[in-house]
Order: sequence, then C-alpha cells, then structure tokens
Amino acid sequence: MVYSRDYEQKYPANPVENPDRVRLPAEELRAASYRIIKPEPASLDAIRKVHGSEHIDRVRKSGHYEAAALAAGGAICAAELAMKGEPAFALVRPPGHHAAANRAWGMCYFNSMAIAIKSIRPKAKRALIIDIDLHFGDGTVSIFRGDLNVKIVNPWSVDEDFEYLNMDESRYLGQVKEAFQGFDCDVVGVSAGFDTYIEDWGRLLKTEDFFKIGKVIKEGSKICGGRRFAVLEGGYHPDLRWCIKSFIEGFD
Ligand SMILES: [Zn+2]
Repeated sequence: MVYSRDYEQKYPANPVENPDRVRLPAEELRAASYRIIKPEPASLDAIRKVHGSEHIDRVRKSGHYEAAALAAGGAICAAELAMKGEPAFALVRPPGHHAAANRAWGMCYFNSMAIAIKSIRPKAKRALIIDIDLHFGDGTVSIFRGDLNVKIVNPWSVDEDFEYLNMDESRYLGQVKEAFQGFDCDVVGVSAGFDTYIEDWGRLLKTEDFFKIGKVIKEGSKICGGRRFAVLEGGYHPDLRWCIKSFIEGFD
C-alpha cells in the first residue's frame, strides 16, 4: 500500500470526497499488516509530461496543487513498485481520471494514472489501463488518444449492445477479462474506483465482486510478468474500506 497521512488533509473539496475515504481503508490495511510505503509528491517535470502550464497554474491558484501532486506521486510510487515486481495499491486522494491535459472536473486536478504511466515509460513502453470506476475516465482517454502503446478499457462503458440496464456482475467481470485480449503490454494500471458498489452510485457490484476483479487482473497481468498497480479513483460509500480491502485481497 502506498500511503501518506497527508492524504487525510482537508482541502476545499466536494464534501463527498472527504479524508475518511482514505483514512478508514488505511486503518484496515494497516491492521491486515500490508506494507506501507510513503510517497514523495510528483515533481513538476513529471506533472508537465501530462499537463499544460496553464492548467498547472489554475490548480495552483485553486489551492489543490500540493494534494494533487502528492496523489500523483503516490501513483508513480505504485507504478515503480509494480516495475520491480511488487503489486501495489496507491491509496490516494484526490482522484484523477477526469483530469485532461488542460482541464479537469469531477473532483480531479492532475491525472495521477497518466502521470505514473508516463513516468515509467522508459522501462514500460506499452501499458494497459483498466478503469473500473463507475464513471468513464475521460481525462485519461483524452491524454492517451492516438497513442498506440496504451490501451484503456472502461468496463461497462464498452457496451456494444447498449444493454446498460441489463449489466450484471458476471458481464462486468467478463469485460475485465476481455481487457487483456489482443494487446501485449509491459504493465497493467488499474484506475480503481469503487462507486460501482451496490450501495454507492452505481448500484452494481458487491464487496466480493471486487475480490474477483482483483483476481482476474492478477491472472491477466501474467502477460506482463505480473507487473500491476492500482490507484484509487472514486468510491463514496462508507463501505469503501471493505471494497478496497476485498479488491486488494484478490489483486495481491
Ligand atoms: Zn467515479
């Protein structure tokens, strides 16, 4: 687990994006004896690989720069651990997958996943990103659009039959499995949002389904020597800690 107590800081966020989102899961994971690694903030150089200077200035003026840079630093740290063969989960806030190069919304400021993928690029050329957040990771998709070395799968969003209302956990899991087909990669990054949880906004997945997702990704990542990491995105129900723990038990 990549974690810093600084992730518990209050900053002017939407009240649903509160410090307990990471504080409570961190307590659970600490009690379960997962190793904790403290990240450094992402450097300006690393952030600049993804974001334009106007956007960076806007984030600075909004008072979110330090928090967003530390979240991105957590993602980089997790990606580097993955490259060393150690699966890692970055328990960070704020989330990042709605941050594009020059704009951001949805409680996001810097795109931590994109910054992490670009930071490990010299070693990991091809990346598979699986975004299991309820919401489509538009920021990440826009950053990597046209980049043939990155494949991004947003299960549930990729629904060719438009059968959204018939989605269930087995179809969802099927889409996670399919993510690994037809693409050779060097690393797998998971934008791990948990707002698909049955009691959260998405009303779809149970706690144990996150275990299954973690497991499927662990198995799938054998195509790249098991190099895998995950970064927390959304998830707003107080059960978030159980969802995260369940995912990690499958993923580890
Ligand atoms: Zn979300």
